[in-house]
Amino acid sequence: MTTTDIFTQLQASAPPKGQIMLWYLGGAGYALKSAETTLLIDPFIGPGHPPEWTRMTPPAFSAGQVRDVTAVLLTHEHDDHTDPVALDAIRLRTEAMLIGPKSSVAVAKQHKWPAKRCQVLPRHATLVLNDLRVTAVPMEDPNAKGANGYVIECGKTTLLHCGDSHYFAGFAEVAQRWRFTAICTSVAYNPPGKLLYMDECDAARAARDVKAQTLILQHYDLWKGYTLDPERIKTVAAWYCPDTTVVAAQVGEVITIG
Ligand SMILES: [Zn+2]
Repeated sequence: MTTTDIFTQLQASAPPKGQIMLWYLGGAGYALKSAETTLLIDPFIGPGHPPEWTRMTPPAFSAGQVRDVTAVLLTHEHDDHTDPVALDAIRLRTEAMLIGPKSSVAVAKQHKWPAKRCQVLPRHATLVLNDLRVTAVPMEDPNAKGANGYVIECGKTTLLHCGDSHYFAGFAEVAQRWRFTAICTSVAYNPPGKLLYMDECDAARAARDVKAQTLILQHYDLWKGYTLDPERIKTVAAWYCPDTTVVAAQVGEVITIG
C-alpha cells in the first residue's frame, strides 16, 4: 500500500503508448492515465446525504491534492457522479475541460464553470483528447436525466464506462462497432422496491454482450445498504462470460488494461 496521493502517482506514472492505467476512486470514479492524457471520470469526494445515502468508502483524494488533469468526464447529473465538491477543486486547480451530457454541464455551470471550459458531448459524438478517442454512447438509466456511457479508445485498447446504466439491449449494439478490452459497470444490491443498479446477472450479461476481456466492477462499495460482495458477480460471470476476467478494485488500487 502506497502512501503517496493519487495525483502524485498519476504524475509519476508513464504508461506506454496504447495502454490505459485506471486508479479506482470508489463509486463510478476513476483517474485514467494514458501516455499523453490524464482524465478524471465521475470523481466523487463529496459527503453523501445520510441517512439514505451514507458513504461506506472514504473519498480517494482531497480537494487540495488535485492537479494536472486534461479533462473531467461525467456520465450523469447525480452528485455522486457530477460532484460539486470535486468539480470546484478541478475548476480552481487545473485547466481541465469538463465533458458530459447536457444535464451534467448544466450542474457545472451552476457551480461557476465557465462555458468555454464545458463541452456537451451528445450521444454518438466523438472527441479526440491527445492520444484518446472518446465517444459518448447511449446508456439506460431511468433514474437520471442524462446517461452517457463512454467508449475510450487508446490505440487498440478500448474501454467502455457505463456510468450507472442498467442492463439493456443496447450493449449488443455497441459491440457491433467496437471490440472491448474492458467494461466498467455499476453493480450494487437493490433493496426491495428499488431498482437502481445492475445486479449479478445484469453485469455478467453486459460483459457477455460486449465480449469484454475484463469486467471491472464499480459502485458496489459506495452506499450503506446497497453494498454487494463482488464474489457474487464472479460466480455468475463464470456462467455468462467464462472467458472474461472479473476485477473488483479497492479504492486507490490501479488497474492496467491493454
Ligand atoms: Zn451512482
